[in-house]
Amino acid sequence: MGQSMVAITEPDCTGCDLCIPHCPFEALLPLASNPDSRTHKKRPIVVVASQCVGCLSCIGSCPTGALFEVKVPFDASQSTLLLMPQPPETEPVNRWKKGGIGWA
Ligand code: SF4
Ligand code: SF4
Repeated sequence: MGQSMVAITEPDCTGCDLCIPHCPFEALLPLASNPDSRTHKKRPIVVVASQCVGCLSCIGSCPTGALFEVKVPFDASQSTLLLMPQPPETEPVNRWKKGGIGWA
């Protein structure tokens, strides 16, 4: 766990998927389904908090500026990002196997 993590401003995420290959730790994944409350047609990307090491490789990859840095408190167990009750259900993304999208 680094000193930072990233979070996503969900209404600003169009679901374009451009950020996914910028995360070497597979922490950016598509939500399994599009919430009813959402205005965009495509499901958003979510940060899988347990996978994010705060490298910030992804931060400049979002064309809408939906990704932002969150400072992790000295006592990381107090981070609101880590206090999520349950990780969201996400779609698998082929990164490293044959035909995968690799690393941007
Ligand atoms: S690049 Fe930005 S808008 Fe596109 S999926 Fe990632 S967070 Fe959403
Ligand atoms: S900060 Fe690093 S580990 Fe976290 S989502 Fe972005 S690229 Fe992945």
